[in-house]
Amino acid sequence: MFETERHVMVARQIEGRGVKTPRVLEAMRRVPRHEFVEKSSWDDVYEDHPMGIGLGQTISQPYIVALMTEALDPQPGQRVLEIGTGSGYQTAVLAELYDEVYSIERHGALSEQAGLILKRLGYDQVHLRVGDGTKGWPEAAPFDAIIVTAGGPKMPAPLMNQLNVDHGRLLAPIGMVHPDSSAKKDEDVGQELVLMHRTPEGIKRHSYGDVRFVPLIGEHAW
Ligand code: SAH
Repeated sequence: MFETERHVMVARQIEGRGVKTPRVLEAMRRVPRHEFVEKSSWDDVYEDHPMGIGLGQTISQPYIVALMTEALDPQPGQRVLEIGTGSGYQTAVLAELYDEVYSIERHGALSEQAGLILKRLGYDQVHLRVGDGTKGWPEAAPFDAIIVTAGGPKMPAPLMNQLNVDHGRLLAPIGMVHPDSSAKKDEDVGQELVLMHRTPEGIKRHSYGDVRFVPLIGEHAW
């Protein structure tokens, strides 16, 4: 269902904007995004914008999901940790590309709902947990990649420590203003999408530009 819509979505919104990795594009074509939102939102679920998923949270815009997934440089045999399961959509895209996917969500109701959908779609290598993702998942570390899908004021230190020392990648939206802050002008509440890449020569930092996520709330965040 909606296969044509997904092909158009990938061609126009994702490839058209510079995401090139064939495995990532294929994953975006495969994952049924509509399964992760209410039926009443199916009309525009493949359009170029984020959508509400309840409890004040959002399912990210398809392009941002693809951009972030490509930035992680997924390779066969690797393991990934996601902070902010939300709807489970990004989790499913990761599950198309990684051998093991761990994902933490602070809202029990969202995690439960995402778990049901992921199971129904057959993503058996996904492990979900309810809690504060800024502390990471020490028992399952190290990870080849860690992706944070909510905006915090800094890179959570525990996540940095749970990264594979050999080419581990940590991607997170970092912004100094709380995303829910109404005191600030609209354009100030976004974040910079930052990648920390561990290499034998040290840690390299790369910026993927401006993004806007809901707040990352936890011990090592807001
Ligand atoms: N990846 C999601 C995006 C969800 S929005 C998707 O594709 O649908 C970000 C999510 O991060 C929200 O569900 C929010 O509840 C969650 N979140 C915020 N702070 C968190 C934390 N410290 N630990 C785990 N989840 C967190």
